[in-house]
Amino acid sequence: MTEDADYNSETKTFTIPELETYILDVLHRLGLSGLHAETVAATILAGERDGGGSHGLYRLKMVAQTIWQGSVDLQAIPVLKNLSQAVLRVEGKRCFAPLAFHSALPSLIERAKTCGVAVLAINDCVHFAALWPEVEAIAQQGLVGIACTASHAWVAPYGGMKPLFGTNPLAFGWPRPGKDPFVFDFATSAASRGDIELHRQAGQPLPDGWGIDSSGQPTNDPQAVLQGAMLPFGGHKGSAIALMVELLAGPLIGDMTSANSMAHDGPKGSAPTGGELILAIDPACFQPGRPAGAFSEAETLFAAIVGQGARLPSLRRYAARRRAKSQGIDVPVALLADIEIFLKKGRTC
Ligand code: NDP
Repeated sequence: MTEDADYNSETKTFTIPELETYILDVLHRLGLSGLHAETVAATILAGERDGGGSHGLYRLKMVAQTIWQGSVDLQAIPVLKNLSQAVLRVEGKRCFAPLAFHSALPSLIERAKTCGVAVLAINDCVHFAALWPEVEAIAQQGLVGIACTASHAWVAPYGGMKPLFGTNPLAFGWPRPGKDPFVFDFATSAASRGDIELHRQAGQPLPDGWGIDSSGQPTNDPQAVLQGAMLPFGGHKGSAIALMVELLAGPLIGDMTSANSMAHDGPKGSAPTGGELILAIDPACFQPGRPAGAFSEAETLFAAIVGQGARLPSLRRYAARRRAKSQGIDVPVALLADIEIFLKKGRTC
């Protein structure tokens, strides 16, 4: 984002197909083609359609930067392997993660429905996106989905002072027959790095608990946190979950930790490279002949949440999606201009 871009002013309205065409055009200009471009475009489009802010069109700049730095193989063709009946690995060969996920999803679903549970390791991929599209796709097939990935080392462990963990998102999807799945998806850091950057650009102090300076002292200064370390959400509890994500998406599947990814990237500013772990569970395997029992118990819980005025994660996204389908997607003109300026600058570098 440029310093003075005002994303709250004038907007241009796109239909969903029009926006997909625009995103594909940008990706083609960057040299991405075929299924690789289509899967990346679908992920960015889904983010913008669902009101995803930083995980919508804004991500085109990170995708561009990653391509210009040579951190992704534009021609990569992922290779899927069965490690056992219920364990799959897709070697991304340095593709963007949505292509690897797309290549492996049918087998993951088939294996989970056959074995009751299946695990997919995605290796050697470039991660720039939100994880909810993946667990939502699994839940739409009637399966429970869990996904996590490490990123770049920006977050200090609870009680520590040096960046070690990534922002390490964790996503969960639960099928709701006849309804959109229940999905949550968030970073295990107190805030996203993008939010800290936005505070810096706006000259605003950060809320307490978002980060520490390079000497380990709590600070509300965004610049000091960007140079120091972000903090996990929820103190020691979030810190342990962030560590779990490191272990599951890194050492367990033979891929990079966030510290490795950061060292691998050096000063390039590319999206994180590494692994992702995805679990798919068939509710039918625990209650043969009665999987509906799990779903109706879940609906009782959901109703009790909504009934007291709280909201379920993902309902905001689905509402945005319905709006996008009926009224189109309003994109800030300043964001479109910002992307074009960024692309032009990159091409002349
Ligand atoms: P948020 O803190 O905004 O939390 C998002 C989740 O919480 C969503 O499921 C959201 O549902 C839900 N939620 C938000 N507010 C409420 C509320 N008031 N009541 C109930 N539920 C609520 O997300 P983050 O900033 O931590 O992460 C944003 C995205 O960044 C994620 O999609 C994550 O995957 C992605 N990410 C990707 C990384 C990568 O390396 N690939 C690294 C880090 C993050 P709803 O959508 O309906 O609002």
